[in-house]
Amino acid sequence: MLYTFVPVLLLRTLIVGSALSIVVACAAEPSTSGSSAQAPASTVSMQQPQPSAPSAAADAAQGVEAAVKQQSFEEWRESFRREALAAGITQSLFDRAFAGVTPDASVIAADRSQPEFSRPVWQYLDGALSETRVSGGKRLLEEHAQTLDGIEARYGVDRNALVAIWGLESSFGQIQGDKSVIRSLATLAHEGRRPAFAKDQLLAALQILAHGDIPTGQLRGSWAGAMGQTQFIPTTYNTHAVDFDGDGRRDIWNSPADALASAAHYLQASGWKAGEPWGFEVSLPAGFDYALADAGIRKPLGEWRHLGLSGIPSGQDHAMASLLLPAGYRGPAFIILDNFRAILRYNNSSSYALAIGLLSERFDGAGQVRGSWPRGELPLSRSERVELQERLLAQGFDPGAADGIIGANTRNAIRGFQQKLRWPADGHPTQELLGRLRAEP
Ligand code: CA
Repeated sequence: MLYTFVPVLLLRTLIVGSALSIVVACAAEPSTSGSSAQAPASTVSMQQPQPSAPSAAADAAQGVEAAVKQQSFEEWRESFRREALAAGITQSLFDRAFAGVTPDASVIAADRSQPEFSRPVWQYLDGALSETRVSGGKRLLEEHAQTLDGIEARYGVDRNALVAIWGLESSFGQIQGDKSVIRSLATLAHEGRRPAFAKDQLLAALQILAHGDIPTGQLRGSWAGAMGQTQFIPTTYNTHAVDFDGDGRRDIWNSPADALASAAHYLQASGWKAGEPWGFEVSLPAGFDYALADAGIRKPLGEWRHLGLSGIPSGQDHAMASLLLPAGYRGPAFIILDNFRAILRYNNSSSYALAIGLLSERFDGAGQVRGSWPRGELPLSRSERVELQERLLAQGFDPGAADGIIGANTRNAIRGFQQKLRWPADGHPTQELLGRLRAEP
């Protein structure tokens, strides 16, 4: 379910500071492979310099090849076993967890896939906000009303948002991933693109087994090690999973109460503000400076209203907000608040956060987008994004490394070029823009 500019693993992050970038809609989309509440390598931070794609890919390939040549899976396992025992895992637990574990080639294939084509935000939303998901969520809100009362009381997180996350992460628990988490993470720690990250997760997975929350055979998840109805990675599980139904085990696989409360705990820790909306759709005045639609620009709601935005409810004028144009100036505009940022910590994709916000409103019969999406626009392919970056650089703008990832640097470079052309400076990559760059001397 990848769609645009970033391999999905790179999208998932636990952003540590709220000043960090929001991956704007077309830069990111969640995936059914699920790896939420995940903190991958620094590649995720959209404001950090990125290694260039060709050299990074080549380095990674060489690194992997070298690692494979240097160390067989069995050699790697012995070396990791020593580390795990040093970290407090018992011999018997380790040997039980690793009994019969071999590398999983499908995990490596998924880890290395870099889709060339991707879906635009409106198509992603069409799927995320399907009638089935909306009606399923409504039914489950009723079914679990009492549990959700308790979760809201304890964590102060809106029940509709929790059920929306449940719906998008695992189709309300129906699609959790059925791979052995130990096997997937061992494969990735041995020869994945981010072995250090995978090794940390693997150690955390062994700690889950040591804690006795779930039997070894039932520790299952996505190819990337995202687990259960919340699709938590093991480190997030260890810090935020809770036993809400009181049976003594934190069971995000089989207990909706534990899963929903764990998601609430994570959102609470990510800065959720009780009673605040995630954001709302707005209309922009004629002649608006689209360069203000930047995740790095935060203003009080009252100031946005003074700038002529309509659709901002009264009250909470001091709440800090950013303007999001998920499809550029031709598409709908949204004001986003702190709870949107909290959702991004669950899954660092503004398409995902927007889907959660809208879905949570659809459960109450609202959440319709009034503005129209530019459905005729064809998103840039991965190689076109790389070309766009290379051409921006050739024109004297600094998009960061040409890695096909449209992060803050690339958006700034696009804005610079748009301003030079006196085009609306929304920082949004389009075929039109690429065509204009190709025409430059
Ligand atoms: Ca429990």
